[in-house]
Amino acid sequence: MKTIVNTTPGCADPWDVDSISVDQALSQITDSISALQDCEELPIRDCLGRISSESVISPINVPGHANSAMDGFAVPAQSLPEDGVAELTEIGTAYAGKIFDGLCQQGECVRIMTGAVIPEGTDTVIMQEQVDQLENKTIRIGAGHRAGENVRYAGEDITEGETVLANGSKINPADLGILASLGIGSLKVLRKPVIAFFSTGDELVSIDKPLQKGEIYDSNRYTLHGMLSQLPVDIVDLGVIEDDPDAIRTALLKASQTADLIITTGGVSVGEADYIKPVLEDIGEIEFWKIAIKPGRPLTYGSIGNSIFMGLPGNPVAVMVTFSLFVRAAIRKLSGAPAWQAPLVKARAMQDLRKKAGRHEFLRGIASTDANNGWQVEKTGMQGSGILTSMSRANCFIVLPAENNGVKQGELVDVQLFDHI
Ligand code: AMP
Ligand code: MG
Repeated sequence: MKTIVNTTPGCADPWDVDSISVDQALSQITDSISALQDCEELPIRDCLGRISSESVISPINVPGHANSAMDGFAVPAQSLPEDGVAELTEIGTAYAGKIFDGLCQQGECVRIMTGAVIPEGTDTVIMQEQVDQLENKTIRIGAGHRAGENVRYAGEDITEGETVLANGSKINPADLGILASLGIGSLKVLRKPVIAFFSTGDELVSIDKPLQKGEIYDSNRYTLHGMLSQLPVDIVDLGVIEDDPDAIRTALLKASQTADLIITTGGVSVGEADYIKPVLEDIGEIEFWKIAIKPGRPLTYGSIGNSIFMGLPGNPVAVMVTFSLFVRAAIRKLSGAPAWQAPLVKARAMQDLRKKAGRHEFLRGIASTDANNGWQVEKTGMQGSGILTSMSRANCFIVLPAENNGVKQGELVDVQLFDHI
């Protein structure tokens, strides 16, 4: 007689009615988060990567004065020959930061260095390589020059009164330079979000202790530390919490008193020691708990009091994939940063890629340029969600949408390059 076993949807099923799509998860996350409002005023160097909470109007023109783009000779354009050669008399020198005070007349010129203010009476700079310098402070200029050449005009980069930085901009290195060029030393920015995280698992041991049989070192807190450190956030590492609902409840409630976002890893599946979801049901709200993604299907998203909660899976690769997709989007929204998604580029698959339709897959890949300067991509090797070396060797995700059911060598696939390459 045949035994019949009833099955409920689980990790092995490609289609799971409880799972939401990656895009749906992303929009639910970003729709449910509002940007922080508090701000602080900081010296501009400390504003890199932060979000401005004021707009900046330029108090001056940049450059402040018309100046030379070349080392050469400043001349009045009327003295330039239409054809033949003109001889001009050199009456002085203008240096960057040292003005030439005189007035230049027709038939005269001023030796000028890059960045020096254009002397009165001149409007054009001829490169020194394009003139003959004679012994008696005389130069010879040929035809073919344009009036105004090699002059940088006052305000040509920034005009007084212009908005150089909009409220809500993410401050990049060029912005620091621009603020400095306006003589602005400090800026109001939104405060950094506070992110608290801990690992859960009775098998986890911190790196300063010897391993007993069946134990493993906690690596997730280190990858999380690494990924969070690249963002403008304040980090609170709460260590390892055992698989015990009371201990998890206590840790979550404590974290919710200070953190804007709480991240945990592990304990979100349907195993007997997976307590994150029931504890969250008890002390907070759950928005969703399963995404049709591989790796990283179980992900509990919700809130505890005023804190956002993201319960990531325990497997080390799933932590990194879900962080890169969902946690970064949540932090961006919380920080007030403009929405952004890493662009996908097309790359030629260097091997067959097996996949069943159903889940959005993020394989770890190595992208490189092929002989025609196009992109090609190969897998890093074993793709299990515990194979953390697959992440460390990768420079991209190979992104296969839910409906994809396999790729043949030579076909084009979407690749998302990591931003640290
Ligand atoms: P879980 O989601 O708790 O069922 O864990 C899934 C897998 O990830 C198990 O093999 C765990 O041992 C492993 N794992 C969980 N947390 C960590 C961690 N912090 N560091 C390394 N591996 C972990
Ligand atoms: Mg566990």
